[in-house]
Amino acid sequence: MLELRDIFKTYNNQALLRGISFSVAEGETVCLLGASGSGKSTLLQIIAGLEKPEQGQILFNGLDLVQTPTHLRDFGLVFQDYGLFPHLNIFDNVAFGLKMKNVKHEGHKVHKGVLQKEINRRVSEMLKLVNLQGFEKRNVTDLSGGEQQRVALARALAPRPRLLMFDEPLGALDRNLKENLLQEIRAILHKTKIPAIYVTHDQDEAFAIADRVLLLNEGQIVRAGTPAEVWAEPGSVWAARFLEAGAIIEGVAVTSNRVKTEFGVFALDCGHKHAAGEKVPLLVRQSDEGEEIKFKAEEILFKRNQFEARGAGLVFLIDKAPAVGQIIQIKVEVQCLA
Ligand code: ADP
Ligand code: MG
Repeated sequence: MLELRDIFKTYNNQALLRGISFSVAEGETVCLLGASGSGKSTLLQIIAGLEKPEQGQILFNGLDLVQTPTHLRDFGLVFQDYGLFPHLNIFDNVAFGLKMKNVKHEGHKVHKGVLQKEINRRVSEMLKLVNLQGFEKRNVTDLSGGEQQRVALARALAPRPRLLMFDEPLGALDRNLKENLLQEIRAILHKTKIPAIYVTHDQDEAFAIADRVLLLNEGQIVRAGTPAEVWAEPGSVWAARFLEAGAIIEGVAVTSNRVKTEFGVFALDCGHKHAAGEKVPLLVRQSDEGEEIKFKAEEILFKRNQFEARGAGLVFLIDKAPAVGQIIQIKVEVQCLA
């Protein structure tokens, strides 16, 4: 199990990571989701041992990795730009980590022929796993982006890493390819049970692949939970906005757990003791179990099988085509974001 404790990292007197702690359990895929520039790649570099934090610990199965150089950590990395060796064919790319691992464990002597057989077997096994069976002799430059990323994945998996890290691996691929490869990565992670950290700024991607999502903002993890938990309760204005979780409006507390809005008074179950008169940011979302509100549709947008009605700062999906200016009645759930 990987554990990060209170990691701090500063660049040019700017605090980038400010006390990051989390762990990744056996077989778990943890997804780190944050805007571009929020320090995601830096955190992966720190875990890989390519960057040093000013403070904090990285442990694997309880052992501090501070003295362990990158190549001895047994972590695999998959990057957005694939990072393949263009002068090597697919076989040699995938075999690279295996050969390195052998150099590393030189102590116990293996007969060269046996070793070569073992490497051949493992490379072909990995290429099969990523659906590139028989690609051994091909050149990197002859492959599509999606295929190159599969090779990168096979290369990372071949030495049986004890942790896999993905840094926006689908960032350079177009939409259809993205979805397919994402499903395959997910299936491979489940099958191999290798713990993984998957970094992205794309919430759909994160929610589709993660067992657990961590939201990174301003150097801190501001929300953690299963995709369903995080989506159900983003917990802050920033998170609700970043996830595009619904409309965000401001209410005024009338009692400790009731807020007045232009759409009526709502009860909150956030447990906060709001002072009367306090401004409270609220998330308003469509919900069949919610309370009915009315608003005037100012703008209608066609959205596949539904229509998006906008008005009074709200945005909702409606099944039947509404008219501009029409009063829309809709059931909503209101949640505190303070
Ligand atoms: P993300 O992967 O979330 O987009 P990064 O970890 O790549 O974010 O970088 C976050 C910020 O940290 C960058 O905008 C940059 O200002 C700073 N940074 C990253 N690496 C370095 C470095 N080696 N030297 C100085 N600043 C850096
Ligand atoms: Mg990055």
